[in-house]
Order: sequence, then C-alpha cells, then structure tokens
Amino acid sequence: MKKRSYLPFFVSICTLLLITACNTSEGSGNANNEETEEKVQVVTTYSIIYDIVKNVGGDLVDIHSLAPIGSNPHEYDPLPEDVQKATDADAIFYNGLNLEAGNSWFDRLMETAEKDEEDAPVFLMSEGVEPMYLTTEGNEGEEDPHAWLNIENGIQYAENARDGLIEVDPDNKDVYEKNTEEYITQLKELHQDAIEQYNEIPEKERVLVTSEGAFKYFSAAYGFQAEYIWEINQENQGTPKQITRIVDIISDKGIKGLFLETSIDPRSMEAVSAETDVPIMGKVFTDSLGKTGEDGDTYIDMMKWNIQTIKEGLTE
Ligand SMILES: [Zn+2]
Repeated sequence: MKKRSYLPFFVSICTLLLITACNTSEGSGNANNEETEEKVQVVTTYSIIYDIVKNVGGDLVDIHSLAPIGSNPHEYDPLPEDVQKATDADAIFYNGLNLEAGNSWFDRLMETAEKDEEDAPVFLMSEGVEPMYLTTEGNEGEEDPHAWLNIENGIQYAENARDGLIEVDPDNKDVYEKNTEEYITQLKELHQDAIEQYNEIPEKERVLVTSEGAFKYFSAAYGFQAEYIWEINQENQGTPKQITRIVDIISDKGIKGLFLETSIDPRSMEAVSAETDVPIMGKVFTDSLGKTGEDGDTYIDMMKWNIQTIKEGLTE
C-alpha cells in the first residue's frame, strides 16, 4: 500500500487574516448558504471514523462516509457520488493499518479523485498507534487494522482528527481543541470502565471467539485471548479448514460462549455453534457502528455495548 506521509502544517496569523478577509469579501448569498459553504467538507472511509471526526468537528464539518453502516470496510466499491465527494473534499480521514486495502479500493479512489496531501490533506487516523500484525499463513507480517477496539487507540484517533481539522481550518482551532478535550474525557472514563468490567471476568474465561480475528488490540489492552474463524475479512471466509480449526480450539479450551459481529454474515459462526453445541452469546460491533437511532450508533455506544455483551456472555 502506498504510504501517505502526515505533514504538520503551520499557518501564520498573517495568512489566516488574509484567508478570512478573502472569504468574507466574497459572501453575497444569504446567511444559511454561507454557513453551509463554510463548513469543512470531510470524507471518511467508514462509520467509526465518521463518528470520531464528527465528535471533534461538531457543527463545523460536513462529513460524507464511504463504506455504509453495517458493511465491511475492508472491501468497498465506491459509487459515483463517493468519487465526487472525495474530489470536492477539504480533508479525507482513513484508518490505514491495512484496513481499506481490499482490492486497493481506497488507493484507487484517491487516484480517481486526484487527491494527495498537496491539495487536500489525507489524514491517517491510526498515526502514532503501535501496529499489531497478522499471523496466518499468507498474511504474516501485514498490519492488523482493528486498533480502535482498544479505547486508548480511539483517543489517539481523536487527537489525529483534531490535528487534521486544525490543519485545514486553523481559524477554528479553539473549537476543535475544546471538542476533543471533552470527547477524550469521556473516552478515558470508558477505557477505565472497560478495564474494571472485564476484570470481573475470571482470567481463564476471558477468551473471545468471533468470526473475524478483530480483537488483537482489544485483547492486549483488556487481558483477553482472541480466537477466530478467519483472521481478516480480506481472505476466504468460513472455509471447511478454518471451521475445523476453530472447532478444535473451542473443544480444547472448553470455551462456553461465542460472539457474532454485526457486520459479518452469521452463517459461519452459526455452523461453528451447531457443530460444537456452544451457544452464540450475543452480537458485538467491530468494523461498523449500529444503524442510526439503534444500539451502538456511536463509537462510545458500540464500545459500551461490547463491554456489556462480552461481560454478560462470559459470566453467565
Ligand atoms: Zn475487520
């Protein structure tokens, strides 16, 4: 994957004043139009990044998110509308760490939209996160993308969103800083709560079996072992070999509960459950938020939902 460098960018007060002067002198439409036009036009690659950037940007940003809620952001076919939005965007935020890599969909979109950090910055949300790596044959050494499932990494994402928005809209630096501070306070509390809740599960029972192996960063942060049917959503999913492998692990470890991701076809996990007679204890959010207005429709709510579901599922 092509690497995009993240370039810190400083604008002097003089430049700021010039830009502000230019913008106001052009405004001749009504107040509403001006307001819309002045919002920072942002594109994000999937719903979790959408929500983090929204919390940092508040009313100052208009965000178009690419891979829809409930879908798999590892692979996505951008629509003509997506190309248009990406072309017009003031800033683009993506996860990186090998997430938007299936069929190189994100790189190809950036090429089609003729985007690079020169004319519209493309920001890496996982900048500064210590990567973890895939281990299955054929994928060894590739980065695992699911950093956001450790809330401490979510805090890093929020800081990167803040720095990106300040770079493209330095006039509103104070607002972005204040929003981020408030948001990070909530995330820190949530991380602490996660540690406390998960600590109530006996250590040897902290084994999480999901379809995709999305819980590496999570497991390292909260003291779990993560097992899975397939390691990442870019490979064959639910092959007989993968099913046999996880069925053996479940019986060897005496695992009592399985979990199913909201953004993944349930059939493989249902087959594993049928074969092992181990129940599916609940649904967890990994690669997507819940639908707007339903459970898990923000990053904070999806993590809260996961804490509760995993805790209840493993302590029943
Ligand atoms: Zn995934």
